[in-house]
Amino acid sequence: MSIKLEHVSYTYMPGTPYEKEALKDVSLEIHKGEFVAVIGHTGSGKSTLVQNLNGLLHPAKGTASLDGVDLSGKTNEAKLARGRIGMVFQYPEHQLFAETVYEDIAFGPRNLGLSADEVETRVRDAMKFVGLDFETYAQRSPFSLSGGQMRRAAIAGVVAMNPDYLILDEPSAGLDPGSRNAVFAEIMALYKKRGIGIIMVTHSMEEAAKYAKRMLVVYKGEVILDGKPGEIFLKEKNRLLEAGMDIPEVYKLADALRAKGLRLPYEITDAKR
Ligand code: ADP
Repeated sequence: MSIKLEHVSYTYMPGTPYEKEALKDVSLEIHKGEFVAVIGHTGSGKSTLVQNLNGLLHPAKGTASLDGVDLSGKTNEAKLARGRIGMVFQYPEHQLFAETVYEDIAFGPRNLGLSADEVETRVRDAMKFVGLDFETYAQRSPFSLSGGQMRRAAIAGVVAMNPDYLILDEPSAGLDPGSRNAVFAEIMALYKKRGIGIIMVTHSMEEAAKYAKRMLVVYKGEVILDGKPGEIFLKEKNRLLEAGMDIPEVYKLADALRAKGLRLPYEITDAKR
């Protein structure tokens, strides 16, 4: 099972003075069960890339498909394929809307046409999964929760859809370290226990190195690097710097690697910090 982009380009506001080619001829394949980090500077094209990966945006050129089904299609098959790729947007708690946590999480499964019992099972499972106690929180207003709990409720809404792939846009943005760890624990559980394919946009190279097995580096609308985070950090420092990645993080990683007895193939002296 895989999501495949073949020569995908995407242009915002084509034919206007504001025309912006945000993706240029991107080809790649992501399999179910992979954990892929997408990193890049602000404006590099990460959001455009992931929205093409889940069929929210349709390529101007090229194709995006899931198991051979074109994600931009209008058929029922295409709709079902899009439904298998969940998306957690940046600050997903801003999209909470219902009067109770239960109603919020139930919204998606209900739209799938499941029975009331099946919907309840999905809500209970999803809440358990993200560590929100059903008895305590199901009937509370989502807006009465803490920031970290709100984000977990929002993630539960996507988990309740039982997706095969989950795309997360900056899942830790704006969270304190405790909530951040809780959210990552859930994401890792989805990846490890349910075998969901995870695609995570982040601008933190540390997060990419810590959690992902594969990293895509986006620069000016192109995927300039695609490989194991450790190898990219070791071998591609210059291209990472070129892509505008935060230099201090490169140094932190160098230190972390050294602590494990690994060495970077170039010298970083204290004087350069
Ligand atoms: P990132 O997620 O890496 O910050 P985006 O994919 O959001 O990057 O943006 C890529 C480029 O496309 C940027 O130059 C951005 O200004 C432009 N862009 C993004 N969304 C729109 C839009 N809705 N209309 C016009 N230009 C856009």
